[in-house]
Amino acid sequence: MPVLTEDSPLTKLVKKNEAEQLARTKGLLSVADLFEFVPRRYVRPGQLTDLSSLHVGEDVLVVAEVKTAATRSMRNRRGKMLTVVIGDDLGNELDVTFFSAYGHEGKLKPGVRGFFVGQIGAYGRRLQLTHPEYELFDDEEAGEAAVEWYRTHRVPVYSTTGKLNSLRLRKLVHTALDTVDRIREPVPEEVRVARGLVDRAVALELVHRPAVDDHPSRGLDRLKYDEAFVLQTILAQRRKAAEAELGTPRLPRPGGLLAAFDARLPFELTQGQREIGEVFASELASERPMHRLLQGEVGSGKTVVALRAMLAAIDAGGQAALLAPTEVLAAQHHRSITAMLGDLAQGGMLGGSEFGTTVALLTGSQNAGARRRSLLDAASGGAGIVVGTHALIQKHVQFADLALVVVDEQHRFGVEQRDALREKGIRPPHVLVMTATPIPRTVAMTVFGDMETSTLRELPRGRSPIATHVVDADKPGWVDRTWQRVAEEVAKGHQAYVVCPRIGDADDESGSGAATSRDTSDEDAGWDAHWDDDGAAPEGEQDAPAKELTGVYAMLSTLRATPALQGVRLEVLHGRLDPDAKDATMRAFAAGEIDVLVATTVIEVGVDVPNASVMVVVDADRFGISQLHQLRGRVGRGAVPGLCLLMTQGAGERAAERLDQVAATTDGFELARADLMLRREGDVLGARQSGRGNSVRHLRLGRVEDEQIIADAREDAFALVDADPGLREHPALAAAVAMRLDEDQAVWLERG
Ligand code: ADP
Ligand code: MG
Repeated sequence: MPVLTEDSPLTKLVKKNEAEQLARTKGLLSVADLFEFVPRRYVRPGQLTDLSSLHVGEDVLVVAEVKTAATRSMRNRRGKMLTVVIGDDLGNELDVTFFSAYGHEGKLKPGVRGFFVGQIGAYGRRLQLTHPEYELFDDEEAGEAAVEWYRTHRVPVYSTTGKLNSLRLRKLVHTALDTVDRIREPVPEEVRVARGLVDRAVALELVHRPAVDDHPSRGLDRLKYDEAFVLQTILAQRRKAAEAELGTPRLPRPGGLLAAFDARLPFELTQGQREIGEVFASELASERPMHRLLQGEVGSGKTVVALRAMLAAIDAGGQAALLAPTEVLAAQHHRSITAMLGDLAQGGMLGGSEFGTTVALLTGSQNAGARRRSLLDAASGGAGIVVGTHALIQKHVQFADLALVVVDEQHRFGVEQRDALREKGIRPPHVLVMTATPIPRTVAMTVFGDMETSTLRELPRGRSPIATHVVDADKPGWVDRTWQRVAEEVAKGHQAYVVCPRIGDADDESGSGAATSRDTSDEDAGWDAHWDDDGAAPEGEQDAPAKELTGVYAMLSTLRATPALQGVRLEVLHGRLDPDAKDATMRAFAAGEIDVLVATTVIEVGVDVPNASVMVVVDADRFGISQLHQLRGRVGRGAVPGLCLLMTQGAGERAAERLDQVAATTDGFELARADLMLRREGDVLGARQSGRGNSVRHLRLGRVEDEQIIADAREDAFALVDADPGLREHPALAAAVAMRLDEDQAVWLERG
């Protein structure tokens, strides 16, 4: 065996084709990757040999002898099937079945002994193992040794495919553990000791080769800590670098635009809004650029807080840019900011206020004239606020003096986009990021860990609670009642949303809802393929029968034909409409000229029509928890109580559970955590959303236990970087950081 280190490619350990398979199916390239590939579970020992105590569903490892083996042809398939009966020393027997005899027939002959690993199933009344992994003993002695080993160890089960089964993987890992003579140790000893962590070498043994009395979870905790520690070191360094940057202090101007705005506010700011406003003001006045995340419950009034920061920037002679994820949202921000500012938004115009400024809009689909005007206003400084989509990030967009960048609904933007906008300042501008969804602390520390965080916890006074109910669409009476409720609200002068999972075909208003082969998904819905949306088909949702999803147009014609809704003004909104039409519809809805908006999830974020009181979500089982919470935040925004009806038909057990959770609480933090528990973090922290350095392998961000690990690692890493920003004293950690950044960079480049 050649010298093996953790950096060695797996080709040093295994044959080329096997290495290729490990790379392709599991993304394992190096020995270190193999070490980090942790078992899915362990088979407990004591399940050895005793064939009499098995039951269905159990993971077992049995040592047994092949008693009989028979192949037979199958009626409706090619190839032969192999049925083996194995038995233990006590005379108990168990059936073992291979649907393809190929490769097994020659080995599993009567008289050979070995161990078999698999899950107990049943065929008729007999228990059986189907396609177990097995290893046969060459001779009596080898058998004894193997049995002894399995008697004294827990057997790791890896997630594997094809020929690369768990047994093979276990062997590879063991060989690697025995051959690599120095296991890396990125965590300094004093930290390890202080946290009571085991050495990394010990951790790997615990995870991959635990003895009967060992606790693999102790080893896994160490790997989790490592992962968190390296990530937090990166974040701490990023924070340190940001602190060293020099921006322009933006000093408050008493009696300026902000003061004039505050005097015009039709409501009183909540205490949270005021306090956060003060924090912003003092950070804007500092030479160190602000780098802050503002999160808060849906409807907690983040926009007002952000707008006040923008006005402060303008008071100090600078400009502010507001980056929104969709055209609908950019247009709405532009509209609502202009409306909130009133005469203050008519700077330079007759009748405008003396402090007035101008709010420009910049989106990709604007006509050339409008865009040119906005570009000019941004470059000349005439526009104090420029609201836009990605169009803002493009090279030719220039600002006279960009003081503050506000990014709305951050999780849809990568770090790269945020940085691209930052670079448009003469000096680094202040940055404020707003998220639509409340973020569990684990995610805040991981994804946004290089920023300071402010949280708006209270909702403005006078908010009415939202009542949420699940409606079983299989019961016609319930459906009728739902539309009746919508009609009642409209009769009271209120408005409603009906949200559907797909657009459907505009030509097909027959109400059949049949899907065509054309693309009927909504590109705006596609925007949030990450963390507050699992698209139309939540992952792991195997219990939901395939069902035709209701489209916006089919729903429209259903509603038109519903007696209760006669005379109600209906309109559709979705991402495939052209931007002018979208904008016109949103304006009309905001103005109360439309009663019921039948829409896709384009209305999910930020849309603010306080007069809307009911939302019906059709095929609600097709949406994720956070997304439903976000959606329902569109109602109950004014003094009118909100009602959200989650319509579902034949939802699977897990989907039904999700809907019940949403109906049971309006606490967005609680729901965000529940959501995280249900999905894999890879989906949560996709590269597009998180940028570099934020995806996790071992940590489970939905778990409370892991929150403590991250918090500990964060404290340790920040202290370490504070004392040694360049990691000069910690070369092993520096190497781990470099490797992590490389990996993430590679992922980032690959995804383009
Ligand atoms: P978020 O973006 O946090 O979901 P918004 O900023 O859109 O919330 O605010 C929701 C609504 O509440 C808006 O109509 C806004 O004008 C209003 N609002 C904000 N702050 C207050 C307050 N302190 N009192 C009353 N209404 C408020
Ligand atoms: Mg908002």
